[in-house]
Amino acid sequence: MDPPPEYSNSVPDGLPGYESMLTEGEGGLCHPPALFYPHPQPETQPSGLNWNIEPLSKDDAQQALIRYASEKCCYSTKPAEEGVITSMETFDTYRYRLETFTETRTTKWSQRPYYGEQIDNRGQTPPGPWEIPVNVPPFFLEGSQIIEVPHTSSVKACPSCNATGRVLCMSCCGTGSRGCYSCGGMGYTYFLQDRQMCLVCFGRGRTTCFACHGIGQIDCLVCLGKRKIIASIDLVVEWLNNMDQHTVEQSSGLKMVKLNSVSGETLFTDTNHMVCPVTNFPDPEVVQTSQQLLGKHQEEYLKTSRILQQRQTIELLPITKVTYEWKGKSHVFFVYGSDFKVSAVNYPAACCGCCTVM
Ligand SMILES: [Zn+2]
Ligand SMILES: [Zn+2]
Ligand SMILES: [Zn+2]
Repeated sequence: MDPPPEYSNSVPDGLPGYESMLTEGEGGLCHPPALFYPHPQPETQPSGLNWNIEPLSKDDAQQALIRYASEKCCYSTKPAEEGVITSMETFDTYRYRLETFTETRTTKWSQRPYYGEQIDNRGQTPPGPWEIPVNVPPFFLEGSQIIEVPHTSSVKACPSCNATGRVLCMSCCGTGSRGCYSCGGMGYTYFLQDRQMCLVCFGRGRTTCFACHGIGQIDCLVCLGKRKIIASIDLVVEWLNNMDQHTVEQSSGLKMVKLNSVSGETLFTDTNHMVCPVTNFPDPEVVQTSQQLLGKHQEEYLKTSRILQQRQTIELLPITKVTYEWKGKSHVFFVYGSDFKVSAVNYPAACCGCCTVM
């Protein structure tokens, strides 16, 4: 005899737009409709800006080195205080950053206990994955949302418990009892060398399993004992801020990796649905990077997601190479970033290796 329709475990046809999800476990990425692809907006280009900032003063450089030496546990601040700055050279460099804020939509099957309520049945055509309205967070703020796709629900026998509502209790492996925690399963304990019956298990060595109250079975965790579930398709919407940045190579001798963590001075920001590559900028490497990263982001994200917003930023990272003399010898340190970070690899009074300069 055929099972009644609501007990059918196969997913019936008739879910236009969700045909790939005929069997449970399938689902996945929903490709955005091609017609949505936006076109880059009219160009916004950096112009009329001052590309250079005030050079570092000798006094600021010296103070930065003193602060640096005093923060190291076993550095003497003497070379920083007594050293005489003989030359300062600036190597200002640019950092280009591109952020692409995307929305992706994926589908998956979900199941929840059925309490006999009215269900949003499959009489009507479900809306397409990209037709379902969502609450978009503020641009560039990541987040996610799960929405049940309308008209995809059906009541089914719970596959986890074979519609019995009960499953084996794993705490006691179905026996209903567990080894007594008080006597370790012995049934007795010792008090001042006197053997006494365990008062927790009354000598049995076992106690009733409190997970199943001695029954050996518990309510099915999927249907919560209701024996039926509602299966439906969930839409998972995710907003991600995909960021790439590139710092233009400079010849100061300061390691590039140090620049990753410092803040610079923002020279140019351009935010738009889709931004255009920067063309009007004095450093050709910035222009080239802008083109490359925009191409890369379009290639990577347009196929799989909606691009909701893009932002490109150019920052100026000030770098000053300072040479100073102390006790007749010449030494070098770097001051970099807007907050005057210092790198002094060969600081002359670092007495041990315990706080090696990073
Ligand atoms: Zn149990
Ligand atoms: Zn006991
Ligand atoms: Zn179940």
